[in-house]
Amino acid sequence: MGDSKSPVALVTGGSRGIGRATVLALARDGFDVAFCYRSDDAAARALEKETADWGVRVVGNRVDVTDPEAVRAWISATEQELGDIDAVVTAAGITRDNPLVLMEDEQWRQVVATNLDGVYHVCRAVVFGMMKRRTGAIVNISSVAGVYGHATQTNYSASKAGIIGFSRALAKETGRSGIRVNTVAPGFIETDMVAAMNEKARKEALSSIPLRRMGTPEEVADLVAYLVSDRAAYVTGAVLQIDGGITI
Ligand code: NAP
Repeated sequence: MGDSKSPVALVTGGSRGIGRATVLALARDGFDVAFCYRSDDAAARALEKETADWGVRVVGNRVDVTDPEAVRAWISATEQELGDIDAVVTAAGITRDNPLVLMEDEQWRQVVATNLDGVYHVCRAVVFGMMKRRTGAIVNISSVAGVYGHATQTNYSASKAGIIGFSRALAKETGRSGIRVNTVAPGFIETDMVAAMNEKARKEALSSIPLRRMGTPEEVADLVAYLVSDRAAYVTGAVLQIDGGITI
């Protein structure tokens, strides 16, 4: 590779599901990748091992995105270790479903703290450096629930709608500094999050998807990889749905 330095990407929630597929896609595209996760050390070590001989650095750290201090420390350690951050993908997310009449305050708070505050903490910590360097691409993972709303998911839908507003505002704020900010809104994707659905709910979901199947984490990761690449140099403030047509 000579003296040329690999670009650096940061991925939250990178140990499993869509985040994991994104780490692999970006590493394959030549990025050094720093990813974080909340608790599953084994999954993180397995991912590091899988990419060990790919010629890029892939490093996982246990960092809770709800904790702004921990996020700042992780980002500054990443910049020391891998260099300036070129791309950010925020995939860390959780669900705590309940109809609103039964919603517990803690379920509301955990979901908003992880899905929305987490995006704020990460973007807040990277954006000044990107502005100074006049380059950067951010992709925040929302959900079709954030665009249309899902019953039993007022907390999740609110957090994911918040991500869309946040990303559009940030795209307007930072476009002149050469930074692009986009949102990806997946429908049903085969990950642990969706594996928790019961058989009846799964059948109902499948019958309402025109393509008659759920998406794969790799399909979402391909879209994310496109958005952070120069092929998407004129795309910013977009909300790209990847949902098999469920929202048509
Ligand atoms: P997943 O398989 O459950 O993986 C979630 C990832 O986020 C894990 O790596 C997890 O780490 C990490 N994480 C959770 N809380 C965290 C925290 N507080 N700090 C740091 N990391 C944390 O989820 P997924 O299905 O891939 O979903 C990824 C994103 O896509 C989420 O934002 C989700 O809302 C969104 N999405 C998913 C679907 C879908 O159908 N799957 C649809 C639309 C949108 P640990 O394993 O260590 O806890």
